[in-house]
Amino acid sequence: MSRKIKELIDKMTLEEKAGLCSGADFWNTKAIKRLGIPSIMMTDGPHGLRKQVGDTDHLGINKSVPSTCFPSAAGLACSWDKELVNRVGAAIGEESQAENVAIVLGPGVNIKRSPLCGRNFEYFSEDPYISSKLSADFIKGVQSKGVGTSLKHFAVNNQESKRMSIDAVVDERTLREIYLASFEEAVKDAQPWTVMAAYNKVNGDYCSENKKLLSDILKDEWGFEGLVVSDWGAVNERDLGLAAGLELEMPASGGIGDNKIIEAVRSGRLSEDVLDAAVERILKVVFKAVENNQENAVYSKEEHHVLAREAARESMVLLKNEGNILPIKEVESLAVIGAFAKSPRYQGGGSSHINPTKVDNIYEELAKVAGNQTTLSYSEGYSLESDEVNESLIEKAVKAAKQANVAVIFAGLPERYESEGFDRKHLNIPENHRLLIEAVADVQSNLIVVLSNGAPIEMPWLNKVKGVLEAYLGGQALGGAIADLLFGLASPSGKLAETFPKKLVHNPSYLNFPGDGETVEYREGIFVGYRHYDTRDIEPLFPFGFGLSYTSFEYSNLQVNQKEIKDNETITVTVKVKNTGNMAGKEIVQLYVRDVESNIPRPEKELKGFEKVSLIPGEEKTVSFQLDKRAFAYYNVKIKDWHVESGVFEILVGKSSREILLKETVNVESTVKIKKVLTRNSTFGELMEHPVGAEIMKAMGQGQAKFEGESSLGAGMQEMILGTTLHNAAVMSNGVFTEEMLVGILQAVNKSNE
Ligand code: BGC
Repeated sequence: MSRKIKELIDKMTLEEKAGLCSGADFWNTKAIKRLGIPSIMMTDGPHGLRKQVGDTDHLGINKSVPSTCFPSAAGLACSWDKELVNRVGAAIGEESQAENVAIVLGPGVNIKRSPLCGRNFEYFSEDPYISSKLSADFIKGVQSKGVGTSLKHFAVNNQESKRMSIDAVVDERTLREIYLASFEEAVKDAQPWTVMAAYNKVNGDYCSENKKLLSDILKDEWGFEGLVVSDWGAVNERDLGLAAGLELEMPASGGIGDNKIIEAVRSGRLSEDVLDAAVERILKVVFKAVENNQENAVYSKEEHHVLAREAARESMVLLKNEGNILPIKEVESLAVIGAFAKSPRYQGGGSSHINPTKVDNIYEELAKVAGNQTTLSYSEGYSLESDEVNESLIEKAVKAAKQANVAVIFAGLPERYESEGFDRKHLNIPENHRLLIEAVADVQSNLIVVLSNGAPIEMPWLNKVKGVLEAYLGGQALGGAIADLLFGLASPSGKLAETFPKKLVHNPSYLNFPGDGETVEYREGIFVGYRHYDTRDIEPLFPFGFGLSYTSFEYSNLQVNQKEIKDNETITVTVKVKNTGNMAGKEIVQLYVRDVESNIPRPEKELKGFEKVSLIPGEEKTVSFQLDKRAFAYYNVKIKDWHVESGVFEILVGKSSREILLKETVNVESTVKIKKVLTRNSTFGELMEHPVGAEIMKAMGQGQAKFEGESSLGAGMQEMILGTTLHNAAVMSNGVFTEEMLVGILQAVNKSNE
């Protein structure tokens, strides 16, 4: 194949080559008929297919062909179920084959830096580990059907405000540990056919012309084999983009970009070899798509609806269940309240907005599952179209709730509150939803709230209700899934893949989001999500990893196969989990790592493993995790690599980031010795950290005692000396530490580094 591609490139004119580097129209690449190069189609994604056959747009305005709407990533991530995410990907791959779509524009793996980001519903998590793992499974699923993916939006696209021009200013360690890490595993493990360069700038350069991101890291370091496509209209200077590693500009740019490339090659500013290499990557993907294309492919809408129901059921998170109000059993009358019950909010707005094959009516699904034993009533409660409080709707709902044994309110965020293209300003639900909950709570203590929203909300009414089920944006089959869970046909098994803060102001990005219109500074650094809440000990409303079940689980026998390892070795951690309740259920076992003592700031704990296990009552299974260097490492900017500080690490296993049940320790020794060059302005503390320096200091112990003896500071004096520079001591120590000693020490120490 690569020979055939090289031969084709040799036959192409400069104009043809440049032309191939941009789309033919909104969704298709260019064909070159005389050389037999076909055109391929790419469309959105990510939680279903948005293939437009009529008018095109990138904001989900015009209609698209029907396809299955699965739960969006915010919800799907809460399943923590790699195999399920893979099957959802495969189903989307099948639908793409049936619609002749070669590449699905997704998944989106941007980190949820702030809960305000309007597009958080499309992203997986605040944590790069789970985000990257699950997206890798999604990619493998889609690509197993011979359809490509586009991992997006690379990179640091964490807000919608000024998304097309904002400069995200991020330090290198944060970039690596948080924002790039969310892409890294997905690229290395799943090799998406394409990666989409984001609109924004990162540290001064547009992503679409950011050589460091597109070439140095993505291709050279991570070994990405596919092509980089621009987000729609994200190209700034086309020739600079090509030189930086952006192969394909989408959509068509009316020849502007192509001409810039041609002109750059002709003037010698751009080597034709760079263009050839870009064309080669594009053709590889085009021919891969053609080879994998299945003519006359079909899929079963019914089967995919069933899968969408399973995915929704696995993703929803039971946040509160006071007095075991759920599951609903032996209830004569149930008041179903809230317009969402009949007109559900099940997907997000913008480019991912698809035309579903059908949508469950939640009320009808509840009625089906409730059977004859429970009588259902329905009241609208609020108007779908506005936030205006309608007293008469509330009164009717209150009356219905009074007459029933139990009430369920469907509330959350309407589409006008969150979408691609803008960020939220607060975490409130509409006033008419909140007042409805409060009014009903006054008359009916058996109250359950089912939430539909793509991102966290504040819940000032939480103490007034007994049950809360977070349904996220559950996709077209959310109704059946909600019915299954409320009536106990299945136990809830989702856990939050993001923190719900008590208040927006507790979020670490609060003071620096969304920036000043030109730049946004990521001043919280690596302390994003639970890394911030847990390290600062700020109690969240619901922590990362949290979710309740109708059954109970016991953890025991945490074991580590080796307690002393080198950082190039892998350890196996096992733990036993048992279903100790009366119902079949699934538990998401989470493994976090904590660096007990560190010279650099590190989060309290970091997620490094998770498994979802299915257990019938009384059943016990052993869950196993592998931990390698990355589980213990931080990104060291000086050596430009991942590094483990030798020492003790805790392996923490539990039910959420705040409910750690078992703990073990391992001692990890680094195989990389970082050589530090000492100078006149290094401190005695730094000298002590150097093996040769420490020896010298030991020999000088006498002098130090002299300093200490003359002071009333005691141990404080020791710290003061360790913080003193060698230069300062040579000048100020009255001859105890001389210039000659300084020169001699530096020579000895730095020579030992060679
Ligand atoms: C979005 C992408 C999307 C593209 C095509 C852009 O506005 O940011 O996520 O894939 O449009 O619709």
